[in-house]
Amino acid sequence: MNRQVLVRYGEIILKGMNRPVFENLLVKNIKKALKDECSIKIHCAQATIYIEPDDDSCVESIVEKLKKVFGIVSIVVAYPAPKDIDKLAETVVANFSSELSAAKTFKVIAKRSDKTFYMTSPEICTEVGGRLLESFPNLTVDVKNPEINVYVEIRENGYVHLDRIPGAGGMPSGSNGKAMLLLSGGIDSPVAGYMIGKRGVYLEAVHFFSYPYTSDRAKDKVLELARIIGGYCTGLKVHIVPFTDIQLQIRDKCPEEHLTLVMRRFMMAISQRIAESRGCQALVTGESIGQVASQTMGALAVTDDAVSMPVFRPLIGMDKEEIVEIARKIDTYETSILPYEDCCTVFTPRHPSTKPKPEKVLLSQSKLDIERLIDEAVEGTELVEI
Ligand code: ATP
Ligand code: MG
Repeated sequence: MNRQVLVRYGEIILKGMNRPVFENLLVKNIKKALKDECSIKIHCAQATIYIEPDDDSCVESIVEKLKKVFGIVSIVVAYPAPKDIDKLAETVVANFSSELSAAKTFKVIAKRSDKTFYMTSPEICTEVGGRLLESFPNLTVDVKNPEINVYVEIRENGYVHLDRIPGAGGMPSGSNGKAMLLLSGGIDSPVAGYMIGKRGVYLEAVHFFSYPYTSDRAKDKVLELARIIGGYCTGLKVHIVPFTDIQLQIRDKCPEEHLTLVMRRFMMAISQRIAESRGCQALVTGESIGQVASQTMGALAVTDDAVSMPVFRPLIGMDKEEIVEIARKIDTYETSILPYEDCCTVFTPRHPSTKPKPEKVLLSQSKLDIERLIDEAVEGTELVEI
């Protein structure tokens, strides 16, 4: 019989009456993640999702893809077996012999959700453990700290498997509304997107692009980051906003100390416009307190003041090293550090204001035709689906 992949989900079982909704969404996201695999059968029972591939050789690549699906707490690759203690023990011996021959200690863990099965869990452990001791003279039982845990599960079918593989955690993408991520080519914003996406928020992204001051390679880098983040969040559409005119006008008409802040206010306002038109309920950025001049508390307040939507900043209290650690884990780091310029860095003032007065920033931007510039930028936006 082919191996099956059993998926456990976590927090969604806490959702009471909504549970079927969450389960269905997770199943839908799993099917989407596995759409390029061999054909599968999939069903839910007892807080577990059972995936039966038609072709056993797909199991490893299915597991790799499932590791990126939010809402999954753990994954096991299980061998199905009839609900008969001899057959269960034989299945363990036949399929885990290489692992068991190489180990010194093991333990059997039995789970019996079918209470009509003719043996109790301790009896299953004793019986299967005894067979393994006979078949593998190298082994002894260690219940405290075994090298190998052998699981025997009695559900609607029998299953045997080794340790669980950790899943991505979080909640199924789309279970908690939709938000717009401001995605630069840096290290921080992809991590911010990952963290909010993990909570089940479906994301789209906006990227501000200042051609020819920033190159097509810089844009490609952002699209590659979007592809990686989209791998966790059931895809990520990117709105590419032409930003050159706005940056040139800011440079020419605003006092230097406020260049960055006025630019950030434009980014927020344009993002909010696009977010509203796409049914998003919040903006997401990768800012953290004090990381750069535009991220002091005063500067963040001036930035927030440009929009009415909630702004989520999941990295707000994190150090750069902590952010880098996540970036490495989710595989965005190597792309983020490619040395292409970002629109923010092209027009950076030498002495940015770190304690900006809101009324002075408003005065600084008053020479610009703000509404017209925002309209033009939104009209010129290009949508890229990853
Ligand atoms: P990152 O590493 O995410 O670029 P950063 O520390 O370089 O962040 P800033 O450049 O000040 O900080 O940008 C702060 C936030 O503004 C970013 O995290 C991102 O959410 C957003 N942002 C910056 N540049 C862009 C851009 N070109 N397009 C879209 N969003 C941007
Ligand atoms: Mg940046």
